[in-house]
Amino acid sequence: MSFPVDRPRRLRSSEKLRSLVRESRLSTAGLVYPMFVCPATKVRKELSSMPGIYQQSVDQIVEECREVESLGVPAVILFGLPESKDPEGKSSLKADGVVQRAIEAIRKAKLDLLVITDVCLCEYTDHGHCGVLNKGEIENDATLEILSDQALSHARAGADLVAPSDMMDGRVGAIRTKLDKHNFENVPIMAYSAKYCSGFYGPFREAAQSAPQFGDRRSYQMDPANAREALKEVAMDLEEGADIVMVKPALPYLDIIRIVRDACHVPVAAYNVSGEYSMVKAAARNGWIDEKRIVLEILTGIQRAGAEIVLTYHAKDVARWLKS
Ligand SMILES: [Zn+2]
Repeated sequence: MSFPVDRPRRLRSSEKLRSLVRESRLSTAGLVYPMFVCPATKVRKELSSMPGIYQQSVDQIVEECREVESLGVPAVILFGLPESKDPEGKSSLKADGVVQRAIEAIRKAKLDLLVITDVCLCEYTDHGHCGVLNKGEIENDATLEILSDQALSHARAGADLVAPSDMMDGRVGAIRTKLDKHNFENVPIMAYSAKYCSGFYGPFREAAQSAPQFGDRRSYQMDPANAREALKEVAMDLEEGADIVMVKPALPYLDIIRIVRDACHVPVAAYNVSGEYSMVKAAARNGWIDEKRIVLEILTGIQRAGAEIVLTYHAKDVARWLKS
């Protein structure tokens, strides 16, 4: 069937009709807002490369969480900027660490928010790598123990979900085993399964003060050229007990989101990362693009590619725009 019998424009003639036949409906219900927790009190420092995003002390985090809750965004993910760093990221295990205190404060404020925690070492190690070192190499198996202890301490503090982002082999299984052993069998794991070694993380490293002090992350994060390997990573994480799998970054990896969505039966998340956010903000500030229109189009694209959950720094703006 073709023209003149078929006229696709018929269904585009009014907003009511376009809305009726729309295939993807962007919703605040699938958004997660990333936040950076730092020590001290009354600290709220805007990141120069990420306008609108702050490094904040626990008291300020709680205040912004109130706003996040009131906008209907269902979840936040916390990244910690600790007081001190060491070769093994040991400060990430402290019961009174920045992330642990932030979780407790959000819980105490009785906010109706899911609290997800990033589980990794790079924010806590003095060398900035996601694992512990042995003769200049990132040691996989020794890292698993610290990661699973970190996940456990987040669960103890009251985290709803833990999200390992390190890309060590076997971390999901190690964390699952540890959580189960300590009666946290109901805390889900959202695994950064296909995390690519990407230039789009640049602004985040300023935010999380986690730039590697030497070398790069190519020995553990994925090669941007690989797609089949993403399916292997996802399959391994599922076998080890991941409840949600993630693709990161989002925009340059929409094809990966799609093949992961088609290959498995668990919820798929995508991380619309700092570089993706900063590019939009910079162009918008220059008046080169319509920020609202571009952001809604980007998030619709990520969702259309197959992600039910999108971690995005635009979450609060999107919630406001979808409300009005
Ligand atoms: Zn890391």
